[in-house]
Amino acid sequence: MPHITVLRKEISELIAAGEVIERPSSVIKEVVENAIDAGAKHITVEIQHGGTTYMRIVDDGCGMAPEEVPTAFLRHATSKIAEKTDLDHIFTLGFRGEALASIAAVAKVTVLTKRKEDDFGTSYSISGSTAGELEQTGCPDGTTLLIRDLFYNVPVRKKFMKRDVTEANAVSQIVQKIALSHPEIAFRMIRDNRTEFRTDGSGDLYTAIYAILGKEFAHDLIPVSYEDGMNQVTGFVGKPLYSRSNRTFQNFFINGRYVRSRQCSVALENAYQNLIMVGKFPTCVLMLQVPPEQVDVNIHPAKAEVRFSNEKAVMDSLFFAVKNALMKNGLIYEFQMDH
Ligand code: ADP
Ligand code: MG
Repeated sequence: MPHITVLRKEISELIAAGEVIERPSSVIKEVVENAIDAGAKHITVEIQHGGTTYMRIVDDGCGMAPEEVPTAFLRHATSKIAEKTDLDHIFTLGFRGEALASIAAVAKVTVLTKRKEDDFGTSYSISGSTAGELEQTGCPDGTTLLIRDLFYNVPVRKKFMKRDVTEANAVSQIVQKIALSHPEIAFRMIRDNRTEFRTDGSGDLYTAIYAILGKEFAHDLIPVSYEDGMNQVTGFVGKPLYSRSNRTFQNFFINGRYVRSRQCSVALENAYQNLIMVGKFPTCVLMLQVPPEQVDVNIHPAKAEVRFSNEKAVMDSLFFAVKNALMKNGLIYEFQMDH
C-alpha cells in the first residue's frame, strides 16, 4: 500500500494557481479587474512576446499601504469581502482573493504601489515561495505590476501556451472587452512596443467602440435602447449588410461584465432572421442590465460564462431590443410584439 502524503504547500499553491491562471490573458483579466476595483481612471497594459515573458499593468487607482502589500499576495487575502454574509458577493463579483497569489505562484512578480496620501511608494518582488524585502521607493500614485516569465516553474503549462501572436491576440481581446465595458476609463494597449489602441475615458460607448473596433465597424452601427420591466438593453448592433463570417464581433455584457453566451448569440441571430445570409453572423456591442440576483456570471473564475435564473425573460428582452432597433431603422417592416 502506498502511503498517503499531504502535498507540500509549494505544490498545492501551483495546483491552485492553475485553476485561475491558464495563460497570459487570464493574468491580464485578473490584474485589470483589480485596477478597476481600485478606482483607476487610466489603465495601461503592455505585453512582450504575447505576455509570456513580460506583462506590465499600470493603474492610477488607490494603491496599497506598504504593510498591505505582502498580504495582498496571500491566498484568500482580499480587501473586498469583510464578512461571511458577503458570500453572495464572492459569487456575483468574483472576489476570491486568489488572483495575486496565483500569479505570484507561477511567475516573477514585482509590484510598485503608492497611495495618494503617502509620501513614498513601495516596491516588492515575489516569485513562488521566495519574496524579497519591502522597499521604499519613489513612484506615481497607483499600482504597477510587472509580471515576467509566466510558468517558468511549471514546464508542462509553459508547453501548453500557444504561439506569441495567438497569446497576444487573446490578451488584446480581453483588454478590448474590458475597455468596451468601461468607456469611463482610459485604456491603452501596447503590444511589443507598439500602441495597439487607446480609449479616451470620456464615458461615451460609441467613442470607445470607434477607438477599439475601428472606424469601419463603428460606421455601420444601429443604436439599441430598450427597457421592459426588469431588464434593460442598450448599445449597438451592426447593419445586416455588414455581418461577419464568425461571432468574434458579437460582444455581450451583463451588468457591466463581458460574458460569452451562446444563448445571447441565438437571441441576437433570431432577431436578424431572413436579413442575413446563411453562414454570416450579426455584430453587436450590447449591454444587458438584469436584476443581479438573476444572474450568476462567475461559474468559474477563469471563465466568462453566465447562467440566468430567468433565461427566457432575458433572451426575450434581447430579442425584442434588437428587433425594435432594426425596425426603427427601416430594416424590418412588419413585426409583432407577441410571438
Ligand atoms: P481580490 O481581487 O479577489 O480581492 P486579488 O488577489 O486579486 O483578490 O487581490 C488581493 C487584494 O490586493 C485586493 O483585495 C486589493 O486589496 C489589493 N490589490 C490588488 N490589486 C490592486 C491594485 N491594482 N490597486 C490597489 N489594490 C490592489
Ligand atoms: Mg482580484
